[in-house]
Amino acid sequence: MEEIKSKNKTDDSRHYGEFGGQYIPETLVNELHRVSDAYNKYKDDPAFLKEFHDLLNNYANRPSLLYYARQMTEDLGGAKIYLKREDLNHTGAHKINNVLGQALIAKRMGKTRLIAETGAGQHGVATATIAALFNMDCEIFMGKKDTERQKLNVYRMQLLGAKVHTVTNGSMVLKDAVNAAMQEWTKRVDDTFYVLGSAVGPYPYPEMVHDFQSVISKESKQQILEAEGRLPDAIVACVGGGSNAIGSFAEYINDKNVQLIGCEAAGKGVDTDQTAATIERGSVGIFHGMKSLFLQNDDGQIDKVYSISAGLDYPGVGPEHARLAELKRAKYVGITDDEAVDAFEYIAKTEGIIAAIESCHALAYVMKLAPTMGKDKIIICTVSGRGDKDVASIAKYRGVNIDE
Ligand SMILES: *Cc1c(COP(=O)(O)O)cnc(C)c1O
Repeated sequence: MEEIKSKNKTDDSRHYGEFGGQYIPETLVNELHRVSDAYNKYKDDPAFLKEFHDLLNNYANRPSLLYYARQMTEDLGGAKIYLKREDLNHTGAHKINNVLGQALIAKRMGKTRLIAETGAGQHGVATATIAALFNMDCEIFMGKKDTERQKLNVYRMQLLGAKVHTVTNGSMVLKDAVNAAMQEWTKRVDDTFYVLGSAVGPYPYPEMVHDFQSVISKESKQQILEAEGRLPDAIVACVGGGSNAIGSFAEYINDKNVQLIGCEAAGKGVDTDQTAATIERGSVGIFHGMKSLFLQNDDGQIDKVYSISAGLDYPGVGPEHARLAELKRAKYVGITDDEAVDAFEYIAKTEGIIAAIESCHALAYVMKLAPTMGKDKIIICTVSGRGDKDVASIAKYRGVNIDE
């Protein structure tokens, strides 16, 4: 096994082993260079970092709690369970950490307009929020199917002053929204910054997102050392594109005794064709500007993916996760819809927390893992967002129809 360097990058700064890179149309090459130059210039700049952390603390409500889930721990009868509460951030998820960072880079580059893709609407809402705060123009691209499923988030974005474009290409979901946002960017780079919502896409996005989200593990490490005087035995987080997971793992990657576990959406099962378990089922390909693992057919066409959770419903995964999986530094497991819905109800009843259905994929795995570990062991599970948005669809899953 190769030495894992900090940030886990290997041959050059654009790659994670064979994964990553910049597979982009020529029209974006120069602009992506400008973005990486700006990022490299500001990422260690004290004034930039001060502004970023001031906003995280005073606008986004950081540091987020590391909460000891006593009832869940006692009920499961094994390892001590701590929850990293990203659901308590402003806008209700971890997305705002990354949006604040990228929008600050955009401002320093002199950009006045932010564009972004969104699936369920969480990243779109976070981007529209920060655009309002920074007084920037904002346009969000969203698949038609998602605009219909997530009407409330469409209206939220509009309320925040953003324009929402309905994407009618392809299967009219998240992957098509990414395509549309990238296409818009190629048409207008002068005043526009593309705020990408997960640890995916061409370099430098996976690195920027890793760095901005690593605030999660920077905090959790300090918090667990204060609470327990030692590092945890396992970190568990859900994986869509992989931003909350990479942020939760980042500070522990070099701590070899800390197990890192990413939970993918298995949908109806990893062995069915209704799944989004990219790492378990995918193969190497190139899409959305990066080389990584994708669910695709033999011709390299991207497959339709399925999960009850819109936030995990993505046919690829960030290149750093593909690398961590290959090196076996992190383990990735599939969690079905049924298991996630059970966890949704379980965490509500045991801890009084309505967690996002995405996060419940991680919680479902903790429910299996904790009882297999001794009472002297410690698990930290990231609750990536709050579940208010999911209540109506979970009710429907259980055969209850509530009016939205
Ligand atoms: C968007 C989202 C995810 C999935 O995205 P990652 O980049 O994999 O973190 C997970 N949980 C919540 C609450 C989300 O909004």
